[in-house]
Amino acid sequence: MTKETEGPQLPQRCSFCGKDFGQVKRLFAGHDAHICNECIGLCSDILHNAPEDESSEQLQDLPKPAEIKNFLDNYVIGQEQAKVTVSVAVYNHYKRINHQQDLRTRANIATGDEVELEKSNILLLGPTGTGKTLIARSLAKFLKVPFTIADATVLTEAGYVGEDVENILVRLFHASNFNAAKTERGIIYIDEVDKISRKDGNPSITRDVSGEGVQQGLLKILEGTVANIPPKGGRKHPEQAFVQIDTTNILFICGGAFDGLEKVIARRMGNKTVGFEADKKSISALSGDIFEHAVPADLIEFGLIPELVGRIPVSAALKPLDEEAMLSILTKPRNALTRQYARLMELEGVKLKFDPDSLQAAVEIATERKTGARALRSIFEKAMLQVMYDVPSHSEIAEVVITKETNTEGKMPKLITHAEKKKAG
Ligand code: ADP
Repeated sequence: MTKETEGPQLPQRCSFCGKDFGQVKRLFAGHDAHICNECIGLCSDILHNAPEDESSEQLQDLPKPAEIKNFLDNYVIGQEQAKVTVSVAVYNHYKRINHQQDLRTRANIATGDEVELEKSNILLLGPTGTGKTLIARSLAKFLKVPFTIADATVLTEAGYVGEDVENILVRLFHASNFNAAKTERGIIYIDEVDKISRKDGNPSITRDVSGEGVQQGLLKILEGTVANIPPKGGRKHPEQAFVQIDTTNILFICGGAFDGLEKVIARRMGNKTVGFEADKKSISALSGDIFEHAVPADLIEFGLIPELVGRIPVSAALKPLDEEAMLSILTKPRNALTRQYARLMELEGVKLKFDPDSLQAAVEIATERKTGARALRSIFEKAMLQVMYDVPSHSEIAEVVITKETNTEGKMPKLITHAEKKKAG
């Protein structure tokens, strides 16, 4: 298509529907043909409503591990090793799917010597609020695949009946806008897997059925099964038509704080490695580093069933966040908290500033709460509440400054009016 026709002196009929120039709003000219705005609209509808063809099951232009990591860097501060590990695992995962797809389209399966690529589900170990969910969420955003978060502890309450575990798939199905093909290549983050561990790591001793039952249920969908899910969710009942979801290509990222795992690892490693340091710091203070040494046997001793551990071959440790990392979290990520509040105020025509002391104070308070970066939002939500209440009805406010005292003593942030600003020059 080169240009829009200017007037009746040019050829006047749409080559598709035959309408002439006067019958349509626009007529576009190509080399030897024309198309009207109505036919373009029609074609566009057909394209958008067409069922996805098999090739679109592939993640086109699969980003390289370094590109995935670069993207994660925009959102996740620190956690370098975890970001690298996850980037490689995710790359391999989608490469594997694309490879299988290629085989299928070339009808070339079962040549006998084809190497079967196994799925690399991922386990993220590390204290709460250090970026596990954030990594999983950011990955899904980057890859533009559906994503959902499930809390393993909720599954515990209902025991190990498969249906409840399958509800995770229902949520992913909803996240993919009821598209089964997209669901089948989504990402599911399962939080708090450590909380469904067997209370006693030794399989031969009395079993903790609730935890183990849920692990069995998870195992089924992790290793790949075709699940019948009720598309709208809820309990299965006979009148509802089921949708079949094959979980073989769904990537599972499991996360947990694994409190106590450090002791298991330390015991296995003996005193040689951690002994000297442990004299100075408690083992839990070392946990961020010691988790890097976790091996499958440790996870089994901790209480995960061996089959499940076997299905999560990639693991990465996240470190506790130090003050410097917390400070960066406040200002650096693309959607850093301070940026988000500044944007909210900007939409009201108000400039928002943070005294550096106020950031430091927030970090210190958050560190005391021991919930990682999670505490930062609630601290600033509190600091900003009155301002967010006042600003929309006070057009005289030009600038808001969050001070240290706003965070430490709950004092009102400094408000500067347009008049004051003008006076100050
Ligand atoms: P968890 O490790 O418990 O899954 P989250 O990833 O949910 O923790 O983190 C909670 C919040 O804290 C996130 O929404 C994010 O704003 C912030 N956060 C935590 N860790 C990081 C990090 N490493 N980089 C940037 N933000 C982080």
